[in-house]
Amino acid sequence: RIVYINGEFLPETEAKVSVFDRGFLFGDGIYEVTAVLGGKLIDSALHMARLERSVKEIGGFLPVSTEEIVAIERRLMQENGLSEGLIYLQYTRGAEDRNFLWSEGLQPTLVLFTQAKKLDHSKILENGLKVKIVPDQRWERRDIKSVCLLPQVLAKRIAADAGCDEAWMVEDGFVTEGASSTAYIVTADGKIITRANSNTTLPGCTRAALLQVAAEQGLTVEERPFSVEEAFAAVEACLTSASNFVVPVTSLDGKPVGTGKPGPVVKRLRELYMENALKTAI
Ligand code: PLP
Repeated sequence: RIVYINGEFLPETEAKVSVFDRGFLFGDGIYEVTAVLGGKLIDSALHMARLERSVKEIGGFLPVSTEEIVAIERRLMQENGLSEGLIYLQYTRGAEDRNFLWSEGLQPTLVLFTQAKKLDHSKILENGLKVKIVPDQRWERRDIKSVCLLPQVLAKRIAADAGCDEAWMVEDGFVTEGASSTAYIVTADGKIITRANSNTTLPGCTRAALLQVAAEQGLTVEERPFSVEEAFAAVEACLTSASNFVVPVTSLDGKPVGTGKPGPVVKRLRELYMENALKTAI
């Protein structure tokens, strides 16, 4: 695989980051994951806008423009023959002798690589995902897509050990979001509920694109927190992320959601999202 690092396209074995990189020492960095389908980037503008915002929120600066980043992504897709999968981007504040305070003008580190992966999700769409409920143990700026992912790493471990595919994190009795996804339930009266964007969750790009098409189709989406009890009483549930698009959740903490089978509302959301994603891919 050819990867991008600080202006160069190199074989992955030759691409090196300093042991003094602040991403390594402090988790002082930001990331993005963008899906590629049919050789095109999905929701690219949303991911670039969120990247710019995250970097600004930590007082950093991007060493290249977002237009240049898209060009880098295209070149990586071409070099690696990637038509379906993911592009991972990581920005860190850069490398210098260890000190909590950073030096002004420090040159950031920028790394991008591709991950080939089939994104058809046919088995998941048939059976749905199993979700484990875990406490949300993260910081209070979850709107920043920080590389400090230890709480999510541990939450995913707990979920996997319980035979689940994803963890939904809970704070004060309410679901915040998935360890790497946005959480939704569908109520008995057909409302789609997902938390509003705030510092308590990451503003999902897939969420933004989905809510836009759902609104255009006149579907009722309520942006508010939902409790764990509401989730257990839901008739359907789903999650969204760049790597899953929209997929059904059919089991919560070992209990079936609704019939325990993927339902019509989530199926429709998936179709609406995919149609728009393919239409707007670049
Ligand atoms: N919430 C968290 C905590 C995430 O890590 C992610 C994606 O990794 C999401 C939500 C979904 O965001 P997106 O749809 O932009 O992938």
